[in-house]
Amino acid sequence: MNNNFDDLNINDNLLRGIYAYGFEKPSNIQTKAIPIINTGKDLIAQSQSGTGKTGAFSIGVLNNIDLEKKETQAIIISPTHELAEQTYEVMTNISNYMDINIKKVIGKTNVNDSKRELESNPQVIIATPGRLLDMINRKYLFTNSVKQFVLDEADEILSIGFMDTIYNIIKFLPQETQICLFSATMPGEILQLTDRFMNNSEKILIDKENLTLEGIKQFYLNCNIYKWKYDVLIDLYESITINQCIIYVNTKNILTYLVDKLLEKNFPISYIHGELSSQDRKKNLNDFKSGNTRILISTDLLSRGIDIQQLSLVINFDLPKNKETYIHRIGRSGRYGRKGTTINFVLNEEINDIKDLEKFYNTTIEEMPENICDYIN
Ligand code: ADP
Ligand code: MG
Repeated sequence: MNNNFDDLNINDNLLRGIYAYGFEKPSNIQTKAIPIINTGKDLIAQSQSGTGKTGAFSIGVLNNIDLEKKETQAIIISPTHELAEQTYEVMTNISNYMDINIKKVIGKTNVNDSKRELESNPQVIIATPGRLLDMINRKYLFTNSVKQFVLDEADEILSIGFMDTIYNIIKFLPQETQICLFSATMPGEILQLTDRFMNNSEKILIDKENLTLEGIKQFYLNCNIYKWKYDVLIDLYESITINQCIIYVNTKNILTYLVDKLLEKNFPISYIHGELSSQDRKKNLNDFKSGNTRILISTDLLSRGIDIQQLSLVINFDLPKNKETYIHRIGRSGRYGRKGTTINFVLNEEINDIKDLEKFYNTTIEEMPENICDYIN
């Protein structure tokens, strides 16, 4: 198998950008996916969290843009503003030596801003689904030259909440547009759907038994009673401030309860959920990314995709409601081969859910040891 970017038929200026960005060798998924993207075939690509899927589709897409043509040739869809922003940063960086126009079309921003972005006929658009469809419907965006259509976090984007929007977008795309799906998780029911809009796709799939990463240690901690979770968290606080940590909760209400209590104690934390204004979302995430705060409390809004290399601990204050979400949440730490730790707060009746997860993913989730600090450092 190829083990160099030089062997993947990548254009010179793009190659320069990849090396300048700091990538030396392609990851597995990059080695496998980029040649398939180059063929123009439809692709379903699955690989574990933090293994470089963004690089795979970004390089693949950029390599196939006709720079002479000033029209929209590729669209990349992300489920959240934060992820779209992140992908935009990566693509802009690695295309640094190319004369290319990449623009964002993201929801909850001013519609006129999106319109203005599109007036420059960007060759690549990074978008969230709703705003993109809106722009197409308003005829601010013409899709007749789109050759590549990528869904990042594809199983999320093809789930109930977004599916109709995506189908409506696909209706506007040329029949021969290449469609590429990327995610760490590809549940069977989603894979089945893909035949409706994809042609003879190439598939890179992973058994669920191989999805968890060895570098991420997983523990559970029985808190017995829900309201004791808070005290348990305070006890852990000393250890968790050493590095950056995300604490996931299942609802906005629990988030508000927890945030209020921690702020009362003057703990320096950030928090994020879908009902904040887009400015607050941006500011709070940036505070955390820049290290101003070391703890981010989040709903599943940020369970997927977000890449913060120094993040080494994930706490599930609530166990996630579905098994895919578990994989995405714990994968926020341990990026690109780094070490990470997950601590699951559970109640007595949830010990069974932990056993289920262990069995489902063929992994181990041990009871949290006394010397947890040794793992987190
Ligand atoms: P995924 O989408 O698979 O979860 P990302 O695309 O977010 O993973 O990449 C995870 C991290 O790995 C990022 O910090 C990215 O910069 C880094 N990375 C990706 N590809 C490479 C590479 N070829 N060499 C070095 N680092 C890489
Ligand atoms: Mg990703």
